[in-house]
Amino acid sequence: MNNEKNYGGLEASAGEEGTSPAKASSPAPLSTIHYPLSTILRGTLKPQEPLSKHTTWRVGGPAEWFYEPADVIDLAHFMQQLPPDIPVFWMGLGSNLLVRDGGITGVVIHTKGLLNTIEWLDNQTVYAQAGVSVPKLARVVAQNNLTGIEFLAGIPGTLGGALALNAGAYGGNIWTYVTSVETLDRHGQRHERTKADYEIGYRQVKGPPNEWFIAATLRLMPYFPAEASSPGATTPPAEASSPAAAEASSPSIKIKALLQKRNETQPIGLPSCGSVFRNPPGDYAGRLIEQAGWKGKGIGGAYVSEKHANFIINQGNATAKDIETLMEQIRESVLKQYGISLVAEVHIVGKS
Ligand SMILES: Cc1cc2nc3c(=O)[nH]c(=O)nc-3n(C[C@H](O)[C@H](O)[C@H](O)COP(=O)(O)OP(=O)(O)OC[C@H]3O[C@@H](n4cnc5c(N)ncnc54)[C@H](O)[C@@H]3O)c2cc1C
Repeated sequence: MNNEKNYGGLEASAGEEGTSPAKASSPAPLSTIHYPLSTILRGTLKPQEPLSKHTTWRVGGPAEWFYEPADVIDLAHFMQQLPPDIPVFWMGLGSNLLVRDGGITGVVIHTKGLLNTIEWLDNQTVYAQAGVSVPKLARVVAQNNLTGIEFLAGIPGTLGGALALNAGAYGGNIWTYVTSVETLDRHGQRHERTKADYEIGYRQVKGPPNEWFIAATLRLMPYFPAEASSPGATTPPAEASSPAAAEASSPSIKIKALLQKRNETQPIGLPSCGSVFRNPPGDYAGRLIEQAGWKGKGIGGAYVSEKHANFIINQGNATAKDIETLMEQIRESVLKQYGISLVAEVHIVGKS
C-alpha cells in the first residue's frame, strides 16, 4: 500500500493489530484492520483528507479515511476487509456533491483518475471503468465516428458518477446507451447487471442496494453524414432537442457546438456544481430562481451566478454551510412566490 503520511494507528505492526490509535483525535475504526490493509493493498489510504480538494465547489470537511484504489482487484480486497460497521461513500470528480463542513465519517472511495480503462468490445460497443472522465469518453467515441453520447462532453465527472445520477444534457441521458454495468458490493463481490436491474429516472437511478459501479458497457450508433439530418436517421429520439446546428454535424463537430453553447450560457471555469436544483416538471429551475430575484445575490462566500441562476458559485471563501443556507433561502422564496418546491439536484452529504 502506498502510505501517504501519519496513519494514527494504521501503520502498527501485526502484533499491534486492534490497538487503539495513539491520539484520541486520530481516526479510530480502521485501526482494527491495519494489518491486512498494510500487507495486501496497493492503493493509497489517507486519514482526515480535506474533501474541499476533491469537489468542484471546493468546499467540504475531511473524509475520516480516504482510499484511492490501485485497480478493481485492489478495491475488491479493500471492501472485503472493511469491517461491516464502517460507512462507505464513493465519489468521482465531486462535481455533483455538497459535502458539509464536518466531513464524512468512515471511508470515502475516490475513483477519479483511477479505474481508468477504456476498451472496444466491437466496433459499436465500448467498455469503460467507473473512473473514466465522461468528457474523455465522449471524445473517444466521437473520434471513432460513433454518435450518441456527444452531450457528455460538457459534463465534468466520472462514468461512475454519471451512472449514479443518469447524467444528461440537451435531451440525452447516459443510460439510453448503457447495455450492462459491473458493480462491486460491500463485501467486495463483483456483479454483472443489466439495465433491467435499475429504475432509471431524471437525474436518479435506483438499483441493488450497497453496490457501486465499477464499469459499464455502452452501445453507440454509427454516424452516417447523409442520414444525420433526415427523419428516421440513427439519431435517437432523446437527442431530438439538441441544437439544430449540431444535429447535422459529425460527432466531433457536434461536441464543439455543444461546448460553445455551454460556454455562452453557463459560468464555466468558476467553482460550482452545475445545476443546483432539478428542473420542475414543465419549467426550469433557473428561470424560477432568476424571476425570484436571486441572480448575483449570496450568503458569505457563495452567490447565485449572473450568467445562469441555477448555478451557485464559490467566490473563494465559501463554506458548505453558506451554500446550503443559500439553497434553503432560494427554495423558500421560490415556494412562497410560485408555489413550486424545488428539489436539490446536488447530493448533500456529511456532517454539519
Ligand atoms: C460546470 C458543471 C456543469 C454540469 N453540467 C451537468 C449537466 O449538463 N448534466 C448533468 O447531468 N450534470 C451536470 N453537472 C453535474 C455533474 O457533473 C454530474 O452530475 C456528474 O455526472 C457527476 O459525476 P462525478 O463523478 O463528479 O460524481 P460525484 O459528484 O463524485 O458523485 C455524485 C454521486 O454519485 C455517486 N457516485 C460516484 N461514483 C459512483 C460509483 N462509481 N458508483 C456509485 N455511485 C457513485 C456519489 O456517491 C454521489 O452520490 C455539471 C457540473 C458542473 C460543475
